[in-house]
Amino acid sequence: MDVSARLTELAKLRGTRETPVVSVYLNTRWGDEHQRDRVRVFLKNEIRKARKASTAEGMEADLDWIQAEGDALITQSRFPEAHGVALFACRALGLRDIIPVRVPFESAFVVADAPHLSPLAALLEKTPSALVVFVDGESARLVPLTTEGVGEEVALESEVPGHHRRGGWAQLAQSRYQRHIQDHRGRHFEAVVEALIGLTEGNGVRRILMAGEPRTIAVFQKRLPNRIAERVVGSIAGARHESAAVLVGRAAEFLAHLRGGEGADAVEAVLTEAAKGGRAVAGLEETLEAVARGAVQRLYLLGRFSQPGRLCVECGALQSGDAASCRLCGKPTEAAELGGAIVDRVIAAGGKVETVEIHQALARVGGVAALLRYPL
Ligand SMILES: [Zn+2]
Repeated sequence: MDVSARLTELAKLRGTRETPVVSVYLNTRWGDEHQRDRVRVFLKNEIRKARKASTAEGMEADLDWIQAEGDALITQSRFPEAHGVALFACRALGLRDIIPVRVPFESAFVVADAPHLSPLAALLEKTPSALVVFVDGESARLVPLTTEGVGEEVALESEVPGHHRRGGWAQLAQSRYQRHIQDHRGRHFEAVVEALIGLTEGNGVRRILMAGEPRTIAVFQKRLPNRIAERVVGSIAGARHESAAVLVGRAAEFLAHLRGGEGADAVEAVLTEAAKGGRAVAGLEETLEAVARGAVQRLYLLGRFSQPGRLCVECGALQSGDAASCRLCGKPTEAAELGGAIVDRVIAAGGKVETVEIHQALARVGGVAALLRYPL
């Protein structure tokens, strides 16, 4: 199951106060032993605190499992390639989930009545599936980037005969030979285009990043059908002898920059739409209303958004402020962090969540806005 499907499944899970869900996010990408130690110490301390704080049934077993899995991750006997790992445990729900990804998480340890999902949701939006396509005159390599990591590289090669300079009668052969090479190259590119179409459409690839010599890339791109060409987001340098890891590192940097710009533009568009009273809302109250109606298609949230509020124990309404009884049904409410609660509901209702690190206009409206499926 891919990460996005698992996220949707996790968002549907609800424990209780007696049987809470433990959610753990770890950075498993260490520059040195100190960083590795810091993760080890973080996990040990959090588990100790949780053991002290909780008398919940099944909690001991959940924490034992997290300790054992955490040890395996930290010694890299499990998922040595992962840069970040999320773990979810709740014995009562039969939940034991480990999700390795290719981007580091900030360490987090949360015990609550539902899985803590915002870091995972934010990650999914930040790392869309992309395809790095290196191509030269006689070979090509297609490297898929997924949330789980670098996918299996597809190497495409066709042998092109060597090139020898001759005079006289050989000149004719030479020109035929040149045509043959051109033909051959043409077929090579066509074959690469076919493979690219298959991979792109078969895997829902939204972004293609070309790698190689600029002139080769320009010629190659002319052969792409429009529906594929419009997914090409740019190109990076690349040479045949470079490893997939080198190409992927360059590609990840390019995509990260691209993402920053696009995210900001999308937020601007949503704020404008909200100001016009169209298919968008801005601000906490309006967003809560849209969330309650299940109308959010895409939520935009400042990365540091956190807001205490109330959750109605009867009707489940999320409300700002600190009223002890529900505005809608009058029943008692309990304290809830609205940011996390909103994210969970949007995901559970099939919406997407995008975390924005810095955005002044979004901050001015309260740090949250949403594109809607229909106007409220
Ligand atoms: Zn209520």
